[in-house]
Amino acid sequence: MDSELLREQGHIMVDFIADYYRDLQDSPQDFPVLSQVQPGYLRDMLPNSAPDQPESLNELLDDVTKKIMPGITHWQSPSYFAYYASSTSVAGFLGEMLNAGLSVVGFTWQTSPAATELEIIVLDWLAKLLQLPDHFLSTGHGGGVIQGTGCEAVLVVVLAARDRILKQVGKTVLPQLVVYASDQTHSSFRKACLIGGIHEDNIRLLRTDSSTNYGLLPESLEEAISHDLAKGFIPFFICATVGTTSSAAVDPLVPLGKIAKKYGIWMHVDAAYAGNACICPEYRKFIDGVENADSFNMNAHKWLFANQTCSPLWVKVSEKDAVVNYKDWQISLSRRFRSLKLWMVLRLYGSENLRNFIREHVNLAKQFEDYVTQDPHFEVVTTRYFSLVCFRLVPVDGDEDKCNQRNRELLAAINSTGKIFISHTALSGQFILRFAVGAPLTEEKHGRLYKNMPLNLPATAIVKNIL
Ligand code: PLP
Repeated sequence: MDSELLREQGHIMVDFIADYYRDLQDSPQDFPVLSQVQPGYLRDMLPNSAPDQPESLNELLDDVTKKIMPGITHWQSPSYFAYYASSTSVAGFLGEMLNAGLSVVGFTWQTSPAATELEIIVLDWLAKLLQLPDHFLSTGHGGGVIQGTGCEAVLVVVLAARDRILKQVGKTVLPQLVVYASDQTHSSFRKACLIGGIHEDNIRLLRTDSSTNYGLLPESLEEAISHDLAKGFIPFFICATVGTTSSAAVDPLVPLGKIAKKYGIWMHVDAAYAGNACICPEYRKFIDGVENADSFNMNAHKWLFANQTCSPLWVKVSEKDAVVNYKDWQISLSRRFRSLKLWMVLRLYGSENLRNFIREHVNLAKQFEDYVTQDPHFEVVTTRYFSLVCFRLVPVDGDEDKCNQRNRELLAAINSTGKIFISHTALSGQFILRFAVGAPLTEEKHGRLYKNMPLNLPATAIVKNIL
């Protein structure tokens, strides 16, 4: 590791990346938002084996421009509205650089005391912004840990909850353990349960529909629990979601938490996307009831400008050692110093700015929604709480099959232009288009879907000062 070479080449790389962000905005025609390459495109462009001799950075960057960029779906494009965003920022980027530079492996306190202690402090800060209950704070009976992803977070808590119940009632009951969630819950929950040895037939994904805007009905949960108890099953885990992947539906935490408490069930709250919005007082109501949860997770890499990956998880902790050894709070041993970037994001922007970025995204989604509502060709299909609009072309003559097909074709047409990328979902058998705002460079003008479509949004810049 030659420090002078790092300085020289680091500058070249920072220039390259800064140019990328500039060009994404100034020359969008050169960056189709959804990559348009075909599977296997790269194999023909690269040699079959690694080079024997070193090549230059310039040669390599040339290949990035010519060969890698065509295969990039530009999640950072201002016209990216698919899935949920993966938000970046200068602060997050600098935090990643510092992390890569220090490259410590803080699996125990001793292996890098600052890595452990900063993570504890920063997650206390974020917990306070979210007004999480004291039992999630390190100063209370809990604590936070930064997982890589929401999938890792749910796996960790399913395993913890499973071990808790097995300790209480004996290891032989594993086949009787049952878990609950709505049918809108992220697929990572099912995966976590299967990895955790929960029998596939014991994963209850309870039905939701438009009458609750796809949120879980507490009565369905209580009914399922009673039914299972009567049959000798042991309910031990409920995964409630605030902001589902499909439509940003919200499970009502207050009644669900009461039920969880009544039956001694671990309640996990998956707020991967919408949890970020809850740093704003006006959205905090969506996690009212978190007081009865045993764990809470959100993805700061989705909507808090903390570049991939950064998934804070808070848990109640029953036993505490003198120091935290984070290797015991996660699947892997090695771990990155992720709190650096979250710390930098919180310090370099300040919570007031972060709240305003989120509000601006929600405003843009609202404007898009207003426009769709006014256009007789379209309908908005769910109540919007955050920055996701679920909509579709309306059926003609009530023909739902044809309607699904038309919406499928519309989606393909929009995304094949490369000008904008939106995604889709299925709700009550309908093919639904999703317009999710969250890319940091997005301004109002980028919300214009497609020049041949009847949609034509007004344009005023919104997120200007992040990058
Ligand atoms: N939960 C919800 C509600 C999500 O939307 C997602 C991803 O979109 C996840 C969990 C999984 O998160 P990750 O991709 O960080 O594993």
